Amino acid sequence: MGIPDEEVAQVRAATDIVALISEHSALKKVGRRWSGLCPFHTEKTASFSVNAEEGFYYCFGCHASGDAISFVRAMEHLDFVDAVRLLADRAGITLHEDREMGRDHKRRSELLDAMERAVQWYHERLLRSPDAGPARDYLRSRGYDGDVVRQFRLGWAPDEWDALATALKVPEKVLSDSGLGFVNRRGRAQDFFRARVLFPICDPSGRPVALGGRILPQRGGRAAERPEPKYKNSQESPIYSKRRTLYALNWAKHGIIAQGEVVVCEGYTDVIGCFQAGVPWAVATCGTALAEEHFTLLRNFAKRIVLAYDADAAGQSATSRVYEWERKHEVDVVVADLPGGSDPGDLAGTDPAALARAVKEARPFLQFRVDRILAGGDLSTAEGRARAAEAALTAVAEHPDDLVRDQYVMQLADRCRVDAARLRDRLDHLRSHPPKADPVRARRGRRDEPPPRDFPEDDSDPFESDHRANPDLDIALRPGPGIEALKLAVHRPEDVVDRVHAVLFADPVQRKAFVALLEHDSVHEAVETASPEVANVLRRVTVEEPMAGDPELGDPVDSVVTVLVRGSVRRALAELEVESRSGVVPWEVRATETAQVRLWLDELEESSSGRDASDRLVAWLAEREAGV
Ligand SMILES: [Zn+2]
Repeated sequence: MGIPDEEVAQVRAATDIVALISEHSALKKVGRRWSGLCPFHTEKTASFSVNAEEGFYYCFGCHASGDAISFVRAMEHLDFVDAVRLLADRAGITLHEDREMGRDHKRRSELLDAMERAVQWYHERLLRSPDAGPARDYLRSRGYDGDVVRQFRLGWAPDEWDALATALKVPEKVLSDSGLGFVNRRGRAQDFFRARVLFPICDPSGRPVALGGRILPQRGGRAAERPEPKYKNSQESPIYSKRRTLYALNWAKHGIIAQGEVVVCEGYTDVIGCFQAGVPWAVATCGTALAEEHFTLLRNFAKRIVLAYDADAAGQSATSRVYEWERKHEVDVVVADLPGGSDPGDLAGTDPAALARAVKEARPFLQFRVDRILAGGDLSTAEGRARAAEAALTAVAEHPDDLVRDQYVMQLADRCRVDAARLRDRLDHLRSHPPKADPVRARRGRRDEPPPRDFPEDDSDPFESDHRANPDLDIALRPGPGIEALKLAVHRPEDVVDRVHAVLFADPVQRKAFVALLEHDSVHEAVETASPEVANVLRRVTVEEPMAGDPELGDPVDSVVTVLVRGSVRRALAELEVESRSGVVPWEVRATETAQVRLWLDELEESSSGRDASDRLVAWLAEREAGV
């Protein structure tokens, strides 16, 4: 499904790249560019730069670079078309994709619109309406003040059939497709949520896509006569997929990036509890187990994932798949050991410091499981220790890495006072004969063997390849006169055009970058048509400002050109020497030429004749190269 180039350009031009990136990392204005912590790698000092006018970003740490579209692709894990669509949506541009896609897109924005209005309506209802009194009391009793209610945009669905449907006045189809309501048996629009405190669930950019609703405790008569689940969530819809959505990611992402880790809870109140306990980098799955899609989403933000479930849930969650995801997505999964039976939401109310500590002292997933198995066993008798070791070994056997397994074997040998060699034999047996109790899982375990570490992943994406360490790239990017000259060529083209020549660039990538700038009307066009290495260099020099003039040193154009010319001429003279020694060029010719060039080289340093000498030397270099 292609989007015409001119529409892509239109979307790019309409996108405020600083606002876009600011949703993931706080940017500060430094001179003409913007700078902040890189959203693609963990760092403590800002090495990420954005040039707002050209619409490029570049990281001096991990060399990530690109424009608004590649940023969205990397962050949201979207393909090109979806990334453009998302940006078009933000910028209010209607793409003329084929009719069906257009309809689909319109449908989505209608649903998002309805959801936003519903969230606002419910929120105001909670803040102001008399019938929301008990809800406000309940929230206060949980320690949620007005700030918390406003930060998380909590709402109140009144105890009525159709209060929202009546207030919103959206078409029935929108009401039911968004999950906000449905058409009842008598053909009337009816609300989906009734008499519940509501937690809006947003996409990472903060647009509400669904709601989670909690009933108030002790609602007397009604609760007894019509028992209802404590929590009720929006159904999946065209704008809401449980497996791809994490509650509060939109609020937590700055904290996650700053911290380099994300705390994953089970419930909305757990997340809010974490925020209140000084851990504002928590999210929750929305009524579903942690799925691989969640990892795909999270690894954009942090490399360490802390599970903060109540202990039983954590022990049973996903198990062997967690190791697979750890490897595949290069993240570490650790578990916060919450004191007996408590969940983060409760703990935040009773002992917020304990919650923060449990997160800080989170243990590797396997360690957590082994500890729990041993804690549940009787280690005071030989039989008890053997049983506990055997049980723990089953957990150890699921880990895919033999080095890791062996460390746990030694640990178990110690703690259960069993011979390590015996445990290793037992472990080998367990590995070759997976437990038969759950044949489905055993089969799945084999089929889902973790892929090799360098698994191919959308290698068609030039942006991704920019992330990989590339030794050639590093030379081209190393600070020096070449990079300075390119910065000047981008930021002060009029001062550079007749002074800098491609021949002055020793590095082939820098040279191609310079030629690309000469050949195109805008940096953007140059980047578009360039190879990934060259594009990367161009983006880098676009986000950086050239050196400023200095009363002592004069205009940087002069000093940069001088340094470049001197370097190029010295290289050329050395080559000339080799050529003459090998007899390609007669000695007298070389001697005359060399003498003249050396004279110009001396003049280069003098302020009166420097410019002239520099121009002559550049001409000489160019002629030499052209073979004149
Ligand atoms: Zn970076």
